[in-house]
Amino acid sequence: MKYIFLLVAVCLTYVVQAQETEIVEQPDSTVIERKDSVETEKPMSVRPVRTLGKVSVIDTLATESEMISIVLFNDNTWRYVMSENYKADSAIFNDHWDTVATHAYKDVELNTLPEATPIRLVDSLESYHYPYIGRITSRYGPRRGRAHQGLDIALKTGDPIYATFDGKVRFSKAAGNYGNLVIIRHNNGLETYYAHLSQRDVEVGDWVVAGQQIGLGGSTGRSTGPHLHYEVRYKGQSFDPERIIDFKTGELRRAELLLKRRHFSIYAKYEQDFDDEVEVAKIDEAERKAAAAVQYHTVRSGDTLGALARKYGTTVTRLCQLNGIKSTSILRIGQRLRVR
Ligand SMILES: [Zn+2]
Repeated sequence: MKYIFLLVAVCLTYVVQAQETEIVEQPDSTVIERKDSVETEKPMSVRPVRTLGKVSVIDTLATESEMISIVLFNDNTWRYVMSENYKADSAIFNDHWDTVATHAYKDVELNTLPEATPIRLVDSLESYHYPYIGRITSRYGPRRGRAHQGLDIALKTGDPIYATFDGKVRFSKAAGNYGNLVIIRHNNGLETYYAHLSQRDVEVGDWVVAGQQIGLGGSTGRSTGPHLHYEVRYKGQSFDPERIIDFKTGELRRAELLLKRRHFSIYAKYEQDFDDEVEVAKIDEAERKAAAAVQYHTVRSGDTLGALARKYGTTVTRLCQLNGIKSTSILRIGQRLRVR
């Protein structure tokens, strides 16, 4: 009885729908887990919706509300979504709608944004799906004095990449250092960037739903190996995707995000500089190799510096440097000497 978990559907309507229509559709539908019934400080994590890999939309049906449509998928499942006609009129998909430039909000200055902007990430109409689950090889933010506008997740070329939320494709083409790039503007105003793709499955103007496959991971553009470079931006300003997504579990960290101006990169470079990214990756790799090359020897009876130098292909002078000892120092049995 110590731990009582209350399962509360983000979208109570989801539950109501399922009961009323007896369509049991999403075993992994958007559900909030909450400890106790009391509101806690800890944000509620949200599980991803079903993956829509090879599933496609076959029809969209109107409902009594002009705001809400039902999307039918070709595997006999369905979902309530915000109706496209309704969204098409919204300022989100009209203001700064640029299908040519990677950055649509170049004239919007950071200091003109509100101190804090509440953003609803999921609710009864808005779903979520991780873009890709994997090991983060480079995080968001300053790294070695350079700005990384997104984060990198290692993958195998050809792995499917999914739309994070519902929305409309604003950009889909090869874009220089980004390689094959898809940018989706979501109903909540956020934009997500998916770079270095080996294949793009969506085109500009396509309406997409969370969990829909939008392309395949790859290494196109300025890239050191197959990975997803993933950015989340609001009005063009990038912020750390880990604020909203746990890339280990694929869960959304919170249903609602209070986006503060200070969350945006203090390195106010607009474009991701992939030359920086590649250079930093090279330095990291060199350091990793150097660290991996470090080798130790535990002194045994009969060991001498001269013998150890021969054994490890080095010199007595180098051994002395590495260990801060003199060539005349007496070695102790069990002593740990760095030999490389
Ligand atoms: Zn990156």
